[in-house]
Amino acid sequence: MNFDTIIVGAGAAGCVLATRLTEDPDRSVLLIEAGPDYPDLTSLPEDVRLGYLTPSGMIARGHDWGYVGRAGDETEPIARGKLVGGSSAVNAQIYLWGLPYDFDRWAEAGNEGWSWDDVEPWFRKVETDLDFVDGHGQAGPILVRRYLSEDWLDLQKAFYEACLDAGYEDCPDLNRPYATGVGPYPMNNPDGIRISAAVGYLNPVRGRSNLTILPDALVERIVVNNSQACGVEIVRGRDSSTVESDDVVIACGAIGSPLLLQRSGIGDATTLMSFGVDPVTDLPGVGQNLRDHPAVPMYWQATDTGPAHAHWHQVGLRYSSEGSEDRDDMIVYVAHIRDEPKLLMRPTVNLAKNAGRVGISSSNVDAHPHIDYGLFSHPLDRQRMREAIRLCHRISRHDAFSEHIDGLLQPDPSDLDDDSALDAHILRLATTGHHVSGTCKMGPPSDPLAVVDEYGRVYGVENLRVTDASTMPDCVRANIHATVLMMAERFASTWSSPSFSPPG
Ligand SMILES: Cc1cc2nc3c(=O)[nH]c(=O)nc-3n(C[C@H](O)[C@H](O)[C@H](O)COP(=O)(O)OP(=O)(O)OC[C@H]3O[C@@H](n4cnc5c(N)ncnc54)[C@H](O)[C@@H]3O)c2cc1C
Repeated sequence: MNFDTIIVGAGAAGCVLATRLTEDPDRSVLLIEAGPDYPDLTSLPEDVRLGYLTPSGMIARGHDWGYVGRAGDETEPIARGKLVGGSSAVNAQIYLWGLPYDFDRWAEAGNEGWSWDDVEPWFRKVETDLDFVDGHGQAGPILVRRYLSEDWLDLQKAFYEACLDAGYEDCPDLNRPYATGVGPYPMNNPDGIRISAAVGYLNPVRGRSNLTILPDALVERIVVNNSQACGVEIVRGRDSSTVESDDVVIACGAIGSPLLLQRSGIGDATTLMSFGVDPVTDLPGVGQNLRDHPAVPMYWQATDTGPAHAHWHQVGLRYSSEGSEDRDDMIVYVAHIRDEPKLLMRPTVNLAKNAGRVGISSSNVDAHPHIDYGLFSHPLDRQRMREAIRLCHRISRHDAFSEHIDGLLQPDPSDLDDDSALDAHILRLATTGHHVSGTCKMGPPSDPLAVVDEYGRVYGVENLRVTDASTMPDCVRANIHATVLMMAERFASTWSSPSFSPPG
């Protein structure tokens, strides 16, 4: 078998790439995915199809990689989707654009073509916003809506009211550039259906004769000859095979992509040799710079149980921490836990200082990787979280909550005024924001941690690209799905000629 392009990983980025690259009928594309494929809405398992059934934090049954990683002081399960659609098929569907400041920082760091002005039209290309026309896309594959205020759950209404009274701006559209304050989340789940990248992008183009989709196939290694990628080694059940191609693009996500590169001999040479992998090229940044949005859950006793058939997240608060140089570096999620008498607030640092790492523990594809998020290892991240926990506590004491909640269950209220007790709590309860990114960082050749250039091309290996959340230089100040789709669109547009132009 021989293809023009092999895409490894049919997640958020992989589905976009497969769709765009096969628009050229002369290019043959093989899309390989380790998990199963459900080709249409009717064949999708219910918990994948209905967005509210796999809320953030819940591991998707039968469609997860089973990773475990160190978050703060403790380890926790790390959710990652393993099916066509990837994590976009199991995620919580909060659909926020990255903020303008994020991309201007990327461009300042030497990534030409990635400033806000460059990327903004591409966010519009990805979406069809069902609520707002001005400044939004109206013809993209991902449908976006917001819960109407009359449909907000009581605890969401209470949160909104309390935030307004605390002085935060009313924000009807959190995807308006520079928007801040409290308002309904844009969500890619009209009528409760999760519009994953598989549903929005891939399903409508499956019939193209130049596209082959290979599910349930694990790519063990990239084949590299004379510093040129020329195919992949696949394991499918008990069978192993090699498929050749002119170029290979890795879209395995911010955990899977660095692991595949390392197994293929691309990474820090000394570390690779210690695991018995022959280095192909020495790229110390592979698996480093693991970025995320560190969070700490807070719980209150609620007077009622949360409803089974409503989405957890409806309203959110975006704000800047006290004295922060970085605007809108914080976000708070709020949820009435389904079928339990509990209110959750989940303050989250949206521009964390800490970085973690991911790496292989053996050359064996089945070995569990080392994953260390290092959440809250930086004092400024702990300071911002202490402030956020106290803010959420103040918000919860607003009159609007009085008939709905009884008392704070976690953290222990006696820890609230004690910085060191609160720090210990933060490190113990630290949890991933599910936005792992940055582990194959995009950057100029002068950046010692850069793995790919501004077009996603891997340094030191010809015909090999990475295109997914791992290539973000830093995690954007927003849930990252929309940014991953936007980036994949842009990378795809540079396939034939490496230069950026506005979307067609
Ligand atoms: C529980 C959860 C909730 C989330 N909630 C939100 C949210 O509300 N809003 C938001 O914006 N973002 C959210 N995210 C994050 C978002 O979904 C991801 O950041 C995004 O999907 C990343 O896209 P990707 O293409 O980088 O990787 P993925 O979408 O994870 O795709 C990677 C694909 O590669 C496949 N793969 C990996 N290794 C191999 C291999 N060796 N061989 C073959 N295939 C392989 C995987 O199975 C997977 O299908 C959430 C994520 C999770 C897990």
